[in-house]
Amino acid sequence: MNQKTKCDECEKTFMITRIKKENVGLNKGERVVFYYIQCPHCKKKYLSHVESTKVKRLIEKVKKRQNNIKLTIKSKIPSEEKEKLISKNRDEIKELQTEARVIQEDLKSRFALR
Ligand SMILES: [Zn+2]
Repeated sequence: MNQKTKCDECEKTFMITRIKKENVGLNKGERVVFYYIQCPHCKKKYLSHVESTKVKRLIEKVKKRQNNIKLTIKSKIPSEEKEKLISKNRDEIKELQTEARVIQEDLKSRFALR
């Protein structure tokens, strides 16, 4: 991915040759990895994406509920009960996804502040 880009900070162009990686240990054993590109002229960092153990756990919970929905659809329980279970899982998925988004936004702003 040799792509040219213009730095917002110094307005010089540079090639994106690789994405840098930075590990950060946050409180309570949470681990965060920031992936970013950096302007070689002024050293400004641009966040590409962020991974965190907290977000990973939330995504696992989402997957578990998505699987629950699949199993519920296949099961032989009464349809009224099915619908209840499915909508309960869907609501939980929404909450988990919102929580994950909030954490990611928070991490992004932390990155911007450094
Ligand atoms: Zn720059």
